[in-house]
Amino acid sequence: MKRYVVGQDRSQSTLFPEVLDDYIAEDNPVRVVDVFVDELDLKDLGFEGAEPEVTGRPAYHPGTLLKIYIYGYLNRIQSSRRLERETQRNVELIWLTGRLAPDFKTIADFRRDNGKAIRRVCREFVVLCRSLNLFSDALVAIDGSKFKAVNGRDRNFTKHKLKARMQQLEESIARYLADLDRADRDPSTVTEARVEHLKEKVETVRAQMQRLKHLGEQMSQTPDEQISLTDPDARSMATSARGSGVVGYNVQTAVDAKHHLVVTHEVTNQGTDRAQLASMGKQTQAAIGTEKLTALADRGYYAGPEILKCEQAGINALVPKSHTSNNLAKGQFDKRDFRYNAAADEYRCPAGQRAIWRFKTIENGQTIHKYWSSACPRCPIKAQCTTGDYRRIARWEHEAVLEAMQSRLEKMPEAARIRRQTAEHVFGTLKSWMGSTHFLMKRLPNVRTEMSLHVLAYNLKRAMQIFGVVPLIKAIQA
Ligand code: SF4
Repeated sequence: MKRYVVGQDRSQSTLFPEVLDDYIAEDNPVRVVDVFVDELDLKDLGFEGAEPEVTGRPAYHPGTLLKIYIYGYLNRIQSSRRLERETQRNVELIWLTGRLAPDFKTIADFRRDNGKAIRRVCREFVVLCRSLNLFSDALVAIDGSKFKAVNGRDRNFTKHKLKARMQQLEESIARYLADLDRADRDPSTVTEARVEHLKEKVETVRAQMQRLKHLGEQMSQTPDEQISLTDPDARSMATSARGSGVVGYNVQTAVDAKHHLVVTHEVTNQGTDRAQLASMGKQTQAAIGTEKLTALADRGYYAGPEILKCEQAGINALVPKSHTSNNLAKGQFDKRDFRYNAAADEYRCPAGQRAIWRFKTIENGQTIHKYWSSACPRCPIKAQCTTGDYRRIARWEHEAVLEAMQSRLEKMPEAARIRRQTAEHVFGTLKSWMGSTHFLMKRLPNVRTEMSLHVLAYNLKRAMQIFGVVPLIKAIQA
């Protein structure tokens, strides 16, 4: 035994420190949680019970419950039942709460009933980071990722899924009925027990069909013709991996490129990022407190109206365009082969001809100008350009905004690398903290609260890494 590190005898009397505080080192992250919550004006943030009731049984102070949650999310303990257990046995939590151990229902109710206030706490930390001058570069990467909801794939129905499932059931019924017919024709081939079993199966499948028909009727009443049975707000969403998808939520983040802190986040149940750029950009502007903001985003965010809104708000959005033109796929000239001359309001085509303005039209609510050249029918390279009589070029009325963005993007070749390095690892970290089941709560407002707690925990950890625990505590108290 001498060659091993030996523990103490359990029956040995020990002089434990008499002060709980002695267990918690000066640079223990739990001290940051304690100081941060103590410095918040919980009443102003909208927490229920921030003022004690005059009558009735005394309640837990919201600060205590908020500390439990922030500690829990910092340490990957998100469930209220596990937090209840930890408050009884975890020395750090015992120190943090002053030996209070609320039951899991009190803990869970606090999170459910104070969603908005918890989201404001997350914003308060961003305000603190801003006051510490952490967002001085005003450069962010905006990105989105799909997070799983508490709703299995087979409890979500889209029109397509419902049709496929009904077809499957119809085929099953046909198979069972064929087996029953065979049994009728020649009873010796099928046992009586098997016949009973088949009859039961037919009944079960018919009941399932009825249920699906009922779901189909309900589905036709919803705006996006989709139903999720466990969490009604969750939606089926495609992910970047081909052919895969999740039933969940789309989490948007704007991450600061210098320190990788999450400046703004949002949870939506829209499957694509196309309508998110301007809203995320404006929220980030407000959070950083600057008019001058550069926002990098990937191709999924490329949408003219959103880029225009950013331009109008003074945001320098840099979003690459995906080149998915049909002409390019057919081996014909792409729109980029046509040069626009703003002074003359015309295009110069690859054959050197002038494609002049012809008319304007409204397509999908946007004003589009059309141009073409009279030289097309006699053009020697027409086969490379169009199969029609004339090659028509469409130009959105605000296309100049997109062209200006493209030229800014070309001057910043490192944009794609910065965007990837900034935004993507945040999602990786958050998902690994969340485990295989991402969200624990149902409904969009609750999921938003959960995400705010995760983002707050992430930002706290980052800030501790940047400053160190003791200087951060001093900065919070300053
Ligand atoms: S087909 Fe028309 S637009 Fe195309 S290269 Fe020839 S002249 Fe220009």
